[in-house]
Amino acid sequence: MNTRIPDEKLKNAAIKQVDAQRLQLQRLALKIHANPEPGFKEVKASGWLTAYLEKKGFIIERGICDLNTAFRASYGTGNPKIAVLAEYDALPGLGHACGHNLICTIACGAAVASKHTVDACGGTVLVIGTPSEEMYAGKVTMAKKGAFNDLDVALIVHPETFDAASSNALACQNLYVEFFGKSAHASAAPDRGINALDAMILAYNGIGALRQHIRSTARIHGIITDGGKAANVVPDHSAAEFIVRAADDAYLDEVGQKVLNCFIGAAQATGARLEYRWDELRYAAMKSNMTLAQLYADNIKTLGREARLPAPGGGGGSTDMGNVSQIVPAIHPMVAIAPRSVSIHSPEFAQAAAGESGIQGMVDAAKAMALMIVDLLGNPDILRKVKEEFSQA
Ligand SMILES: [Zn+2]
Ligand SMILES: [Zn+2]
Repeated sequence: MNTRIPDEKLKNAAIKQVDAQRLQLQRLALKIHANPEPGFKEVKASGWLTAYLEKKGFIIERGICDLNTAFRASYGTGNPKIAVLAEYDALPGLGHACGHNLICTIACGAAVASKHTVDACGGTVLVIGTPSEEMYAGKVTMAKKGAFNDLDVALIVHPETFDAASSNALACQNLYVEFFGKSAHASAAPDRGINALDAMILAYNGIGALRQHIRSTARIHGIITDGGKAANVVPDHSAAEFIVRAADDAYLDEVGQKVLNCFIGAAQATGARLEYRWDELRYAAMKSNMTLAQLYADNIKTLGREARLPAPGGGGGSTDMGNVSQIVPAIHPMVAIAPRSVSIHSPEFAQAAAGESGIQGMVDAAKAMALMIVDLLGNPDILRKVKEEFSQA
């Protein structure tokens, strides 16, 4: 860049560019909302999104990371590379009750509105389409395949019932367990049986006792999926699925081992044989970049929204964006599209994701990110600070 355009001019242009797309983005968001597709089946959504970006002058790579519905769209050349991530999967049975139809249109709106910024400042703006957040943690697979390795910053905004500049998310892994015992008549010959359900109940209660002695941010929860077939037969098989979460990877390992010990102990106590498997998909904790979070808060404040900063060490759910945040400076802000009384993953939230407040949230979030991108591409000191924080954390 030779002739620097003042940031203020670029910011005004970015806002105008989002406003100019408002109707197109709304149509796209409503079309995806009306055609909900579950994880890895988002064929229509990824087709519509890439067509939109291609028409706006982005270079498109479809089916990246061997995932049919993943994509990478880029505008500009060289570094720095700022990516806005797009999710577009729906919840089976509930449609777009997590509002991912807006996440992807926020990403498109912000990226297209940043073309001016790229033209003026250099660098590259990308939209990376990351399928199946809900069911198969698409970003975990994409992270393993290096999809985020060349980026300088990764941004995403998620619809919610409040505004936040980023979110805490816990590291998380599923544990699948089975006990194998020996069936026998429960009344005539119980001494010949080995009770796989007893083993499961002992383990379940052991985990209940363990909960008192773990950090308050860690979580253990699960269900028993097989507890026997008939009340007059000693169950020879039981099965359960548990989820273990913690604020960081090391503590997830520690709590995970303690949970496993509950099952190992129950196997010894009952004589049932334990088989277990940790899910190969493991969510990392969200490492929110506070410099980026502050930048988001400052920019969205100019649009009349107060986005709170994430409290250190807070809990919450888990997201595959956590794995991205371990590779590249990232944030996961929330934009309010419904009142606090509404729950995310509910029919009411799905309705909001297609309503006026949803569209307004989409527009505001796209603007906030486009404004951030002006700061990041237009001011090398800010990007340096973001990277310094990342490497020190
Ligand atoms: Zn969700
Ligand atoms: Zn979601």
